[in-house]
Amino acid sequence: SEKRLQGERWRMFDLESARLSEQRLLIAASLKLAIEEDQLNLHFQPQICLETGDIVGCEALLRWHHPALGAIGPDTFIPIAESSGVINQLTEWVVAKGIEWQARFCELIPEHVISINISAKDLLNKDLPVLFITKLNELGVSADSVMLELTESATLEESKNIKITLDDYRLIGVKLAIDDFGTGYSSLAYLSQLGFDEVKIDKQFVLNLAFSLNDQSICKATCDIAKTLGAKVVAEGIEDPQSLAILQRYGCQIGQGYYFSKPLEADDYLLWIKNFKSVDVSHDVKAHLVD
Ligand code: C2E
Ligand code: MG
Ligand code: MG
Ligand code: MG
Repeated sequence: SEKRLQGERWRMFDLESARLSEQRLLIAASLKLAIEEDQLNLHFQPQICLETGDIVGCEALLRWHHPALGAIGPDTFIPIAESSGVINQLTEWVVAKGIEWQARFCELIPEHVISINISAKDLLNKDLPVLFITKLNELGVSADSVMLELTESATLEESKNIKITLDDYRLIGVKLAIDDFGTGYSSLAYLSQLGFDEVKIDKQFVLNLAFSLNDQSICKATCDIAKTLGAKVVAEGIEDPQSLAILQRYGCQIGQGYYFSKPLEADDYLLWIKNFKSVDVSHDVKAHLVD
């Protein structure tokens, strides 16, 4: 009967995974429609200069409201979009909309920079650099006010072709950031070779910064590495003033997180900018820090 029980468990497990892959197929199929049927939306999360407390710009974050399934998060649908091939269309939508909004944001803050997430698979899309040039020209947005965020895994996957593709983007004049730093596998030599303008520390190392000596070591080391490479550091996931103060101490220049603001709809972000008074960034470090 023990054996039978195990068999039951396996059957349940299979049903579960069948249901999961069924859901993946459903999501993949619906994503194609999502673009045409206007179910996508961009949210914007402010990035703050930790030295002055001023707005530097924002990160554009994709949102999807499925008519039957409701809100589906990008952590769920982006990997499905990547494996089902619909990611290129999604990114083209994000880039076009992102640059349109950036034109509006720049009317209020001329130095405003917009960061846009790009997947590894997008680097193989030859239409994408063309779209960038077209959109930037059409809207009079300067290329160096747009930052492409690439994940470490993205830069490793296609390592040979990536340098060539990134050179295309450099020629256009957009900036490059390495996203989720510390969660991938790229070597330091590799990092320096690709010449990123910005290194983004993943929020998993920032959320508990005041209480984790381990995370402090990682953040401090990342800031030191970035400095050596001539890149700026952005920390995401800042939720409290202590984390802000610690990152500041390590020389991290830019912060992003719920402490400043959650990602906002475009109209709310515009309002947020209009009412903005520089953030108080003069907090003392009270936590016990690693040396
Ligand atoms: P990411 O690029 O690392 O974006 C940062 C994520 O951290 C966002 O989650 C943001 O809402 C969240 N976050 C920021 N500050 C805080 C904080 O203080 N506390 C907490 N708990 N979370 C914070 P989101 O919007 O759910 O996006 C998740 C991931 O989905 C992104 O991670 C990115 O990898 C991907 N993604 C989002 N939009 C796009 C897109 O347009 N294209 C692509 N390719 N990927 C995207
Ligand atoms: Mg990002
Ligand atoms: Mg990130
Ligand atoms: Mg992240």
